Amino acid sequence: MSLHKEDARSKKIIFVSNCILNANNKVLEFARYPGVFREVLDLLVSYDLGVMQMPCPEVLYMGNQRWWTSRNLYDNVGYRRFCRELASREIDYMENYHRIGYSVTAVLSCDGSPTCGVTLSSYCENWGGRPKEIPRTLVEKPGVYIEEMTDEFTARGLNAPPFLGLCMDDRDKTNSQCLDELESSLALLMGKHISAKEE
Ligand code: SF4
Repeated sequence: MSLHKEDARSKKIIFVSNCILNANNKVLEFARYPGVFREVLDLLVSYDLGVMQMPCPEVLYMGNQRWWTSRNLYDNVGYRRFCRELASREIDYMENYHRIGYSVTAVLSCDGSPTCGVTLSSYCENWGGRPKEIPRTLVEKPGVYIEEMTDEFTARGLNAPPFLGLCMDDRDKTNSQCLDELESSLALLMGKHISAKEE
């Protein structure tokens, strides 16, 4: 075995939303744990996945003290361009991995987020103007960053990896429900029929 060509790496990588590894970037009142969602990380480690932490678009664009907001408020040209640029940098990594035969197992993002939702994002039709709290609803649409990432894959003619939505911004779901859903999705994806928890 040539030491120059073979080592211990798994050649399997998962890209995760920033706040899964650092809840300090969540909008206020949405952090579910102090720092890392430890059980999620343990699960990823159990599959020998390398973990790439994507940037947090909302913190970089609006800061940590941002207001709650919604998909329709973020659905503007400037924020879309910003998200596209961030997504493009991540896809550069993925394209490099693809070129050398490494596998990008998935993009793991936060369902319910107006930015990082995969199948669900928050939506408030009549929000805007004077700050006030109004009922928050979820729509079956991706967040702005995930949508721009998907479009960037298409623009480059690349197949996108599977997108997994961890339901962290769906406030009706508990941490343990989020984890159970992820375990099932990952088990399917990795070709295993038993969850890491049961092994
Ligand atoms: S869901 Fe996305 S935008 Fe929201 S805190 Fe996490 S990384 Fe940032």
